[in-house]
Amino acid sequence: MRAILTYHSLDDSGSPISVAPEVFRRQVAWLGSGRVRVVPLADLMALPPAADAVALTFDDAFQNFVEVAAPLLAERRLPVTLFVVPGHVGKDNAWGGVRSARVPTLPLADWAALGRLVEEGVTLGAHTRTHPHLTRLADAALAEELGGAQESIRRETGQAAAEVAYPYGDGDERVFAAAAAWYRLGVTTELRGLAAEEHPLALPRLDMFYLRDPGQLEAWGSARFAGRLWLRAQARKLRSTLATVGGGW
Ligand SMILES: [Zn+2]
Repeated sequence: MRAILTYHSLDDSGSPISVAPEVFRRQVAWLGSGRVRVVPLADLMALPPAADAVALTFDDAFQNFVEVAAPLLAERRLPVTLFVVPGHVGKDNAWGGVRSARVPTLPLADWAALGRLVEEGVTLGAHTRTHPHLTRLADAALAEELGGAQESIRRETGQAAAEVAYPYGDGDERVFAAAAAWYRLGVTTELRGLAAEEHPLALPRLDMFYLRDPGQLEAWGSARFAGRLWLRAQARKLRSTLATVGGGW
């Protein structure tokens, strides 16, 4: 199986965006063991569907990526894409100035730190300019969120971001078509591995919140692993059907 793995924050809060640093340390050891190939996101689709391979992605660009994740990944030479929200760089993840009741408000990396990560080989992607629900925006605002994010990242770090992550996984055909004007690849929160053919601007991912317990990632390829993903995907679909208000992370 090929899959794109999603992380957000490495902290001990137990929130839906959090993986504990100690758990991540063990996962990195497994990812570096050779059981699966860890490749840049841009290379993953070129591998045969039967390949056991993953691409690592981190959303939001928390300061704890700089402090915890980056050194561990560099040590194992594991490639990663970090999705940055230019309008919040150096601030925190209170999107739109509103703190979430469900996830901790934490500092985000600043441009100096992001520039150093680029020098160390981290790929920066865009996570829109201010982290809105994209499907709720008119065309002009949508273009500003998508194109503006890429422009800021280029101006501040020199890197031409070619990958975008839609906040809250909120995208539709109009959003994907707009994103194609700036980006080669787009990632969602649809919980599954990659099929043989995928829309490059609407790629599914596996949120590591659902694989955060010891041994879960390491069960890769087993019937138990496939069964767990299927159950999680069904539960998520049910929850999003039942949800009456927006929110999430
Ligand atoms: Zn996000």
